[in-house]
This record gives sequence, C-alpha cells and structure tokens, in this order.
Amino acid sequence: MDSIAAVRSRDAIAFSVLDSEVRLGILDSLYDLTVASGPLAGNAAYSTIKADVGVEDSGRFSYHLDKLTDQFVTKTESGYRLAEPGREVVRLRRTGVLTEDPTVEAEPVDGECYRCGGGIQAFYRRGYLVTRCPECIGLIDHELVAEGTLASVSYPPSGVTGIDIETAFDRSHRRSAHTFRAMADGFCPNCGHDVTTTLPPAKGEEPGDDGYGFRHVNHDGMVRFACDHCGRRHISHPLYATDDRDPMARFFARNGIEPGWERVAAVMSWPVTAVGSDLVFETPDGIRFRVDEGLDVSRE
Ligand SMILES: [Zn+2]
Ligand SMILES: [Zn+2]
Repeated sequence: MDSIAAVRSRDAIAFSVLDSEVRLGILDSLYDLTVASGPLAGNAAYSTIKADVGVEDSGRFSYHLDKLTDQFVTKTESGYRLAEPGREVVRLRRTGVLTEDPTVEAEPVDGECYRCGGGIQAFYRRGYLVTRCPECIGLIDHELVAEGTLASVSYPPSGVTGIDIETAFDRSHRRSAHTFRAMADGFCPNCGHDVTTTLPPAKGEEPGDDGYGFRHVNHDGMVRFACDHCGRRHISHPLYATDDRDPMARFFARNGIEPGWERVAAVMSWPVTAVGSDLVFETPDGIRFRVDEGLDVSRE
C-alpha cells in the first residue's frame, strides 16, 4: 500500500487538474451528452463538446481537454467519454456540498417527539437536517446543537434546494436508515471497509477514548458505528439499524409502523435494560427484543 504522503501528493495533483472552469464545463458537458452510466455510456465528438462548452479557440480547448484525459476523461476511437472519477466529480458538485450553504428556518413537520409526545420541527443549517422538539431537552446534549435536538443528520444542500423541508425531513431519515443498515451489516457504504460496532458502556465505564458519541446522547441503549478506513461514524438505535431483518421487519409490518421518522420514534420510545452485555427493549404491547454485541436481534 502506498504511503499517506504518496496518496496525498497524487490527490493534490488530481484536485489541481480540476482548478479550471473550462475543465469543469467539459466534465458537465460530457456527463450530459453521454447520459448513461458506466459501460453503457456513449461517446461525444470533440466538436460537439467544444461547441457545448462554448470555447472558440481550438488550442485553448484542446489544452484543457488534454489535461483531463486519462484520469477524468477517456479518449476513444469515436470521441470522448467520462471515466468514473469524472462522473464522481460531477455528482459531488451537484450535491452542492462543496460550495452551497442554504438555510431553512424551523417549520413544524409531521411527527411526534419520542420523549414527550409534543410536536416537532425540522430545519436545515450548515449541511445538517435537524429535527427538534420545542418542548423538551431532546436527545443530543452538545454546545453546538440547538436545545431539544432529537436528530441531526448530515444531508446535502441539494436535498433542500427546490424541495420542501417536510419532504427533506422524511427523505433524510429514510436515507439514514439505509446507511445504518449497511453499517449494521458490517461495512461502510461510503468506502467499503469494515465497520466496528460498539454498544454503550456498562454503568461506571468510560464511553471510549475518542470523546465521540455516547456522552452527548441523553438516551440509553444506542449503538455506535465507526468505519475503520474513512472514519465515517454514526450513533443510532440498534433496532432502527436492523429494521430490515426479522424479527424486526415482520414486527414493523404487522404493526403498520412506517419507515423513516415514525419507525425511529417508535424504537426510541421503548424502554431498554442491560442484561449482561446484551440490551433488551420492550414494546408497548410487552414484546421484548434482545440485541447482542454482534447486533443479532432475537425475540424473547
Ligand atoms: Zn419533546
Ligand atoms: Zn468508510
């Protein structure tokens, strides 16, 4: 494996190649002109891309196209097409995550606070979709989050641009569920490496050495996921992270508990007790689900 310094050097060169509006224009043009993904994509002719980007000087256009070729753009016998890194750059830019910073003020959304049963609000700020209860202390206790914060989910600016906050609230929670399920299955959906799962420390034990996580959460029985490679980390409810497997999947279906906020609010409101190194959660109708360290769930 290459050293960190060697990887960093190659990445710096790759970013420097992107430091041109004309080159980003070429990537956008190719993305739109060749449409389909991967091996199904077509080619675009030199003259078509040039006209699309609007650069008249052929020397100048060729210079920029050459800089992108091999790494971001593939030259073929009949024209040019985007290589996967070029597609990734376009997709990343279209999320707005690099440069957009929209704010959406708090609005009431359809859902209930799992702590106090009050109405909840959602707002968007600095790349996070935040769900908050105006009536109680919420879940997260940290100087950087608003009082009453129940959930704070990183979500791209594109998800709240031209999309109302109620829809964004629903989608951000459904999206989180997919991320948590993958991590509960043992791998990181971002980078494909292994994930370490940690259940909360027993009473009297310190919550880990990195200062991250459990100590800022006003709730027992959460699980922490940490990717060993890219460092992606989340705290979730273990039954929310395993809601696509039985016995959870069948339980939710039978009780009509919908994915998204409704499901997370349901599991968050069930009392939890530690039994040895396992956690036991009890539903309102008296069903007990046991979660072990490997995140296997059984019905007692
Ligand atoms: Zn509340
Ligand atoms: Zn990762």
